[in-house]
Amino acid sequence: MTTYQGSCHCGAVKFEIESDLSTVMKCDCSLCRKRNAVMVDVHQDHFKLLAGEECLGTYQWNMKIAKHHFCKICGIYIFHRKRSLPEHYGVNLYCLDGVDFDSVGVEQAFGSQLSTAEN
Ligand SMILES: [Zn+2]
Repeated sequence: MTTYQGSCHCGAVKFEIESDLSTVMKCDCSLCRKRNAVMVDVHQDHFKLLAGEECLGTYQWNMKIAKHHFCKICGIYIFHRKRSLPEHYGVNLYCLDGVDFDSVGVEQAFGSQLSTAEN
């Protein structure tokens, strides 16, 4: 496991995760398509918000169980608490510092095909 630092675009929100980047996915649900998200699955014990909690906005849709957090200043999607795995976060891969994005294997999730939608 490696510790990765991450932040939104403006830097107001900072976090770190511990991950081996082995579970990274994109999803074809309507939200993930529009935000073009590639997400790292992280257990909540391996996610630490370091700064900017007051800058986090929350978006909910569909079943309104998952919580999708974005920076209220710069608008970047940062992470969300999952509906299907409530103890896990999906974290925006591209918010991480020091990652060679091209070397990360990305799986495809088919949220659009779940009757209740992925998130
Ligand atoms: Zn920001």
